[in-house]
Amino acid sequence: MARFGGGVHPAGRKQYSSGSAIARLPDPKEVWVPLSKHIGAPAVPVVQAGEHVLRGQRIAAAAEGISANVHAPVAGTVKGVVTHITSAGKKREHILIENDFSDEGVTLPPLTERTPEAVLARIAEAGIVGMGGAGFPTAVKLDVCGRVDTLLVNGAECEPYITCDDRLLREHPREVAEGARLAGLACGAQRLLIGIEKNKPEAIAAMKGVCGQAEVLPLRTRYPQGAEKQLIYAGTGRVVPEGKLPADCGVVVINAHTAYAVYAAVERGEPCYERVMTVSGGAVERPANLWVKVGTPLREVAGYCGAREDCARIVSGGPMMGEAVFSLKVCAAKTTSALLFLTEEEAETGESSVCIGCGKCVQACPMGLSPVFIESALLAKDYAEAKRCGASACIECGCCSYVCPAKRYLAQSVRLAKKIVRERGI
Ligand code: SF4
Ligand code: SF4
Repeated sequence: MARFGGGVHPAGRKQYSSGSAIARLPDPKEVWVPLSKHIGAPAVPVVQAGEHVLRGQRIAAAAEGISANVHAPVAGTVKGVVTHITSAGKKREHILIENDFSDEGVTLPPLTERTPEAVLARIAEAGIVGMGGAGFPTAVKLDVCGRVDTLLVNGAECEPYITCDDRLLREHPREVAEGARLAGLACGAQRLLIGIEKNKPEAIAAMKGVCGQAEVLPLRTRYPQGAEKQLIYAGTGRVVPEGKLPADCGVVVINAHTAYAVYAAVERGEPCYERVMTVSGGAVERPANLWVKVGTPLREVAGYCGAREDCARIVSGGPMMGEAVFSLKVCAAKTTSALLFLTEEEAETGESSVCIGCGKCVQACPMGLSPVFIESALLAKDYAEAKRCGASACIECGCCSYVCPAKRYLAQSVRLAKKIVRERGI
């Protein structure tokens, strides 16, 4: 198996939640369902204030181009389209629904025809997006028939703490394997690979027992093994050139949870309105893996799992690539894989100091970049130099910040440089 260069080996800290079977968070009284927590244009509301909706009913339609449908996670009354804070600290439109706790639901009609077109249309109808965190609409991603030969299911889950995919693979291997087969059918891939890091032996064994035509690929435990380009290299030996898509080298990658969502949409007619979320960290009493409805305020999760006073930082997603959460009013999205409550020690909130020129950030970068030079170029506002140093190739993995003994905010700097280079067309 091919090995990518660079990367780091952070403490996994999976033990907090990996032993917790998936449970269900009680539904909240109100949900704020985001219209734009996916890549592309926000969905367009198709319901009005005062309207009664059923669980699973479409409440916002995918906009033109890249976008995704949105469905009601609970039955109840629409209170309106309101602005609400997101995990990125921005105000965005959400649909507020007051739960009537009837749990009356609707499903999509049975899918009798299993052609690539029909499966692709069902994935679009169900509003499925990349549930590993990226949020790219899955139907758009899989619409590459004739261009790819391999579908790779990403079950690496290389970020510390997160165990939701591990638990899904262990508890629902048949559903994930069938979802992978259906996704492969939709995109025309003949070869199915399921990549799982070797630190999840139960998940590997469970998938090997059911995978049929798919091949289970035990992966080296090294962050960022689950990053798309690194995973493709490990699984197929192919290199995705800068500025190109995986499909350009014949591969499409979907997350394991996304494969499960494909299964649920095709076999059970369930749209994507809930997900498994890991709740973990040293500052929470009861770490867990929970089915959480999209739109659930994170304070409900914090209360249910017993977030403690000594929490120094709350993170949505993993500690390497996730976002700091500044308000528990923020609501769960289709992409919220984890909510971490970290102690002072775990958060490592030290002061940033001057670079000591150790070169560790260069050794750690899995894309072969020199983050220290990109940061210098950014500080000097020399964006052409930042581009020349490869800022555009950054995959925002956070390895450089993780290893820097001077605690410099390298990943944030490189991400900003990349954004400026793109926006200014440099
Ligand atoms: S420069 Fe980008 S790709 Fe390289 S280690 Fe830093 S965040 Fe990761
Ligand atoms: S790891 Fe930090 S201290 Fe070392 S060269 Fe990079 S920026 Fe400088």
